[in-house]
Amino acid sequence: MSTLRSLVIVLGDQLDLQAAAFDGFDPTQDRVWMAEVAEESTHITSSKPRTVLFLSAMRHFAQALAQEGRPLHYVRLDEVGNRGSLAAQLAHDISALQPQQLVMTAPGDWRVLKALQATAAAAGLPLEIRDDRHFYTTVRDFAAHAKGRKSLRMEYFYREQRKKHQVLMEGDEPAGGQWNFDAENRQAFGPQGPGFVPPRSQFAPDAITLEVMALVQQRFSSHPGELQSFAWPVTRAQALQALDDFITQRLADFGRWQDAIWPGEPWLYHAHLAAALNLKLLTAREVVAAAEAAWRAGQVSIQSAEGFIRQILGWREYVRGIYWTQMPQYLEGNALDAKEDLPSWYWTGRTDLACLADAIGQTLQHGYAHHIQRLMVTGLFALLYGVEPKQVHAWYLGVYVDAVEWVELPNTLGMSQYADGGLMASKPYIASGKYIERMSPLCKGCPYDPALRTGERACPITTLYWAFLLRHEAMLARNPRIALQVKNLARLDEAERSAIRERAAAIRRGEIGTLA
Ligand SMILES: Cc1cc2nc3c(=O)[nH]c(=O)nc-3n(C[C@H](O)[C@H](O)[C@H](O)COP(=O)(O)OP(=O)(O)OC[C@H]3O[C@@H](n4cnc5c(N)ncnc54)[C@H](O)[C@@H]3O)c2cc1C
Ligand code: SF4
Repeated sequence: MSTLRSLVIVLGDQLDLQAAAFDGFDPTQDRVWMAEVAEESTHITSSKPRTVLFLSAMRHFAQALAQEGRPLHYVRLDEVGNRGSLAAQLAHDISALQPQQLVMTAPGDWRVLKALQATAAAAGLPLEIRDDRHFYTTVRDFAAHAKGRKSLRMEYFYREQRKKHQVLMEGDEPAGGQWNFDAENRQAFGPQGPGFVPPRSQFAPDAITLEVMALVQQRFSSHPGELQSFAWPVTRAQALQALDDFITQRLADFGRWQDAIWPGEPWLYHAHLAAALNLKLLTAREVVAAAEAAWRAGQVSIQSAEGFIRQILGWREYVRGIYWTQMPQYLEGNALDAKEDLPSWYWTGRTDLACLADAIGQTLQHGYAHHIQRLMVTGLFALLYGVEPKQVHAWYLGVYVDAVEWVELPNTLGMSQYADGGLMASKPYIASGKYIERMSPLCKGCPYDPALRTGERACPITTLYWAFLLRHEAMLARNPRIALQVKNLARLDEAERSAIRERAAAIRRGEIGTLA
């Protein structure tokens, strides 16, 4: 019988020394297994900042394991004989190490779960998968919540979680007398702009990160994204520092400016914590507890604390439940039968649409854009344009440093593209360029006019918005939440309708919006 009892698999987004996979870990009998493999950066084209973040955080976690005295088998990307995929590498290492069993915390990705289960089965080894305690809810909890409901809505799930975990509660009542303060959280900056914004937390690349950057530049040279401004937290200590900076410097204004966009200001009052959370450098509970404590100490308003906590205890847990209860068929969703290719400038930012150029530019530079930019700029354009949902998904999963499939897919395919036919969102998130004009000054620096739907200067988003209404009129008219928008179609005569369709076709042919 082998002397190695358990090989404990740790994936790049499971960097938590307290994870369930380590329960009962005995350094004399068990060993941790981690592997950097090219497939995780190529099954979708992972941007350079995203790949650097994962690899650097993994290598720092390997150091933390060594400090804890936990033996580790670590395979580097540039190691001779690297098998290139998690499944192939694991199969190879099982033969070499001969463990009696495999143990891991539940992975965040259906594809990885299936590949590792198949590898374990082929090797004839038991694979024990433990619940991920990082989250408040298990997938079983979510399934129980969803059972018997005609439709799912995040708000009801969120209220249940507030009560169950006693978050922002005063006895049985929600703190501040309301469950949701969203109505007070949708302001735009005035013409003078945001003024001074506390700078984001920056962590200068250390020797490990610099080494990874060089490796990624060389190995994935054709992948999009830049590394000059890479400053993401890659250790737990840095992630805790970033959390503290957010709570003390930006949370107070988070709620108010949550939806606002300002050109050249990517960070604003957001937390920039999704990557650290998704890599499990932070736990959801400690982030929520820090925000609630700031409110109880009178440092931030209930609007800001609730608005922030809803994103984590509500949305983040909810989308995970959707993902794991709907996969794998969820990935195939295409309720609007969208078939266009993603415009190539999504990978370069070479477009003259000022709002898209701004959001894509900062995405490629930092691997970051805030929620409204993702939903109401890049997501909105792809939805109105009619891009095939899988291509939109591959872009979001590739470009953002915080992208892991369980959280990215429901947000992209469901919330932003309505490809799941309304499971995530009660209506398609559609708007004309007027919405972007309201939330930002971007239209002022754009060759197009958001008020125009036809003609030379018509805003492509506005044109595509009307074309979308025309294309999906029957379906949209049945949805009471959007029927009012559809009624406006009655004002358009046939000539106007065909002018809209013609201009939309020209946009899709790349004759409008594309820069050489
Ligand atoms: C099309 C699209 C794709 C997205 N892809 C991802 C993704 O790959 N990874 C990811 O973590 N988030 C994703 N989101 C959700 C959200 O946009 C990001 O979590 C957020 O922008 C990250 O920046 P932040 O940390 O500054 O968040 P903040 O705006 O400061 O929000 C605080 C935290 O709340 C959580 N959160 C906020 N909104 C959501 C949401 N809708 N779903 C889940 N968690 C949420 C995040 O953990 C975030 O760190 C996506 C949203 C859209 C519309
Ligand atoms: S005019 Fe249209 S394309 Fe230009 S910035 Fe405004 S919304 Fe975007």
